[in-house]
Amino acid sequence: MRGVDDGWLYALGDVNRHALLTHQGKYQARIAGAAIGARAAGQLLDTSAWGAHATTADSRAVPQVFFCDPEAVAVGLSAEQAEQSGYGVQVVDVDLGQAVAGAKLYADGYRGWARMVVDADHGTLLGMTFVGPGVSELLHSATVAVAGQVPIDRLWHAVPCFPTISEVWLRLLETYRDTSTTTSRR
Ligand SMILES: Cc1cc2nc3c(=O)[nH]c(=O)nc-3n(C[C@H](O)[C@H](O)[C@H](O)COP(=O)(O)OP(=O)(O)OC[C@H]3O[C@@H](n4cnc5c(N)ncnc54)[C@H](O)[C@@H]3O)c2cc1C
Repeated sequence: MRGVDDGWLYALGDVNRHALLTHQGKYQARIAGAAIGARAAGQLLDTSAWGAHATTADSRAVPQVFFCDPEAVAVGLSAEQAEQSGYGVQVVDVDLGQAVAGAKLYADGYRGWARMVVDADHGTLLGMTFVGPGVSELLHSATVAVAGQVPIDRLWHAVPCFPTISEVWLRLLETYRDTSTTTSRR
């Protein structure tokens, strides 16, 4: 979302070149509506990060689904983007087909991968990528964790049901715990 300096014009959707996806355009429209309503009511705008009138998710937590076979989905920063942004980054990879019982139940010979990108200094998620059959339905859990800046320590208390593919979160947390070292920092 981008308003011109005197605040009367809002550019929403692809035209602002921020995140060229239908759901991000709709998100920008919701935020713009809130800002316009607040202005009309004479209220101050909250444009701080994650504030009611800032489209922070456009740069920090954009979810995207590639409807290919198998599906590929991602939210937030890739490891490369996180490194380039100066974060201390820990990358955790899990083989969905091997490590997750729910994946084996979902389909014989299930093949898929999960990658978690952690801000190692603050212990929060910067990004997540899943590849595999049905993973688009896993994406919103990762979006909530990234947009909510949920501490990894608290994710241990978000218990996934047995036997679902969501148990990949346990494998990711275990691998992070057992291999925790910062791998890169600018
Ligand atoms: C092949 C393809 C697949 C996609 N798949 C997905 C997907 O699965 N999920 C997803 O989230 N996003 C997807 N996208 C992206 C998504 O389509 C766009 O992000 C979204 O449509 C942007 O919405 P918008 O309203 O900003 O722009 P648009 O949908 O492009 O709407 C702009 C409208 O303005 C009209 N217009 C342009 N100039 C003028 C003018 N001078 N006067 C009047 N009207 C004008 C255009 O005709 C158009 O109708 C896909 C894009 C493509 C090309």
